[in-house]
Amino acid sequence: MDTFTDSGTLSGPTVLRPGDAGYEEETPGFQLAFDQRPDLVVPAARPEDVAAAVRYAAGRGLRVGVHATGHGLPGARRGGLLVTTRRLDRLTVDPVARTVRVGAGVRWGAVVAAAAPHGLAPLNGSAPSVGVVGYTPGGGLGLLAREFGWAADHVRSLDVVTADGRLRHVTAETEPDLYWGLLGGGPGLGVVIGLETALVPVRTLTAARSPTTGGWWTRRPCCAPGPSGHGPCRPA
Ligand SMILES: Cc1cc2nc3c(=O)[nH]c(=O)nc-3n(C[C@H](O)[C@H](O)[C@H](O)COP(=O)(O)OP(=O)(O)OC[C@H]3O[C@@H](n4cnc5c(N)ncnc54)[C@H](O)[C@@H]3O)c2cc1C
Repeated sequence: MDTFTDSGTLSGPTVLRPGDAGYEEETPGFQLAFDQRPDLVVPAARPEDVAAAVRYAAGRGLRVGVHATGHGLPGARRGGLLVTTRRLDRLTVDPVARTVRVGAGVRWGAVVAAAAPHGLAPLNGSAPSVGVVGYTPGGGLGLLAREFGWAADHVRSLDVVTADGRLRHVTAETEPDLYWGLLGGGPGLGVVIGLETALVPVRTLTAARSPTTGGWWTRRPCCAPGPSGHGPCRPA
C-alpha cells in the first residue's frame, strides 16, 4: 500500500497495487465473470482523492476506470487506474424540495429507504444494489418509467472531476454541454462525485412480473389504468 499526490510524491489518497493488502478485496465488483487487474486502485474517500487520482493518471497516460458497485465493467479492467467510490456514501433528502443529494457510492436501496418516510420515491431500477451514479447517466429506466420517464431527465446537478482534474459543479444552466453529455451519454466524460436528483410523490407501489414475457407491471394505488387497461395512469 502506498499514497500519492497528483505530483507523485507521498501523502494524499491511498493507492493499492497488485500484491498489496486490500487490493484483492477492493478490485472485484458484482460482476465476477471478468477478472479485473488494474495497475493501481484508489479507494476514494473524498472528492479530492478522485481529483488527485485523475491528475496522476493524466500525467502518466493511464486509463481511468471507476466503479461504485461493479454491476457494470469499469474502463481500467486490465492495467490503468481504477477509482472505487463506495466510500463516497453521503445521502441527504430534502423533503420540501423533493430532492436527494447522493455521493457516487450510494446505492438505490439506501435512497428508497431514506425517501419513503417522506412519502417520496426515487426513479430507481429493479435492483436496490445498483449504484445511483452508475445507473443515471446511462438513462435509467425504472419501475416508474411509464409515469415519470427516464431517471436522467430528473437530475438537477452533478459534481464531476473532468480529465483535467478539475472538480466542476454542473447544471443545465452553468455547463449545458457537459450536463447533457453526462446525462444519457453514459460514463466517460469524467468521474462523477455525486449528483442531486428529484424524488417523486409515491407512497406505495404494486409490482408483478409477467411469467410469459418477463416484463414488469407496476401501478400506483392512486391511479387507475388507461382505457386500454395499460398505462399511462390517470387519477383514480
Ligand atoms: C441486477 C441488475 C438490475 C438492473 N436493473 C436495471 C433497471 O431496472 N433499469 C436500468 O436502467 N438499468 C438496470 N441495470 C443496469 C444498471 O443500471 C447499470 O449496469 C449501471 O451502470 C450499474 O451502475 P453501478 O454503479 O451499480 O455499477 P458500476 O459497475 O459501479 O458502474 C457502471 C458503469 O458506470 C461507470 N461509473 C460508475 N461510477 C461512476 C462515476 N462515479 N463516475 C463516472 N462513471 C461511473 C463505471 O465505470 C461503469 O462503466 C441493472 C443491472 C443489474 C446488474
